[in-house]
Amino acid sequence: MFEQIAQSIPYQRISVGGVNISIKRLDLVHPHISGNKFFKLKYNLLAAQQQGYKKLLTFGGAYSNHIAATAYAAQLFGFESLGIIRGEELANKSLNPTLHTAQQFGMQLQFVTREAYRQKQSSAYLAQLHQDYPDYYVIPEGGTNPLAIQGCTEILSDEDRQNYDLICCAVGTGGTITGLIEASHSQQQVLGFSALKGDFLSTEVEQLTPKRNWQITDQYCCGGYAKTTSELLQFIQDFEQQYDIPLEQIYTGKMLLGLSDLIQQAAFPVDHRILVIHSGGLQGRLTAL
Ligand SMILES: *Cc1c(COP(=O)(O)O)cnc(C)c1O
Repeated sequence: MFEQIAQSIPYQRISVGGVNISIKRLDLVHPHISGNKFFKLKYNLLAAQQQGYKKLLTFGGAYSNHIAATAYAAQLFGFESLGIIRGEELANKSLNPTLHTAQQFGMQLQFVTREAYRQKQSSAYLAQLHQDYPDYYVIPEGGTNPLAIQGCTEILSDEDRQNYDLICCAVGTGGTITGLIEASHSQQQVLGFSALKGDFLSTEVEQLTPKRNWQITDQYCCGGYAKTTSELLQFIQDFEQQYDIPLEQIYTGKMLLGLSDLIQQAAFPVDHRILVIHSGGLQGRLTAL
């Protein structure tokens, strides 16, 4: 099923501030395994299957698109799934739509303290996890690992490599942009709009790829992960109305806010050929934008 769907991703051409941009609508690849998460999960699920695993374990925050996508994909592929969720206090509350949906798709949820959650990449924690859950295939937070990066190289087609000067994407853990960088032509530039504050993501991506035709900016993170500003929310409303393309406030809204601002500042030539990766995530869209 992975092969068929990736072939038929639609593009939408729009004009922003007089510059034509093409939006690659990964949000439309699948109603539940949306956007980049589809590509990040692909080789992980195949590896888990090949290695004989029956269960998946992964991590996420309460609004995580990765949790939602993994829960559905696990069910589709016949895995049991366990989600380790940040925030012990959530255990006693009614589930938000993301977690409720994940549970409906059969994911078992385990809530842990923020302190415990912060340890999730430490070798001591991971060793303990393997001891407690020996028969689970572990996918890291946000789904980013080498197999996820391999999957994300498939976001770009040969035409995408030929037809564009600049490729834009939203950045969370950096897995998606690394795949795009790896797949890009060396004449192309890849520009990532970080959803998080700080330049640690650039340092991480530098470790993941030897190529240097890319940049990540946190200038449009609006204060940090999951933070919003009234300017961002207004921008999303106006954009959706003008172009009939849904955005959300954590990733894609910030990316397009940033790209429009750069276009307004005349950062690119008007004939620059720009490809924007719409990475989905609409399950986490605020309804009251
Ligand atoms: C998870 C997500 C991202 C971030 O992807 P990374 O590979 O973690 O950088 C971007 N956009 C959307 C909509 C996402 O859900």
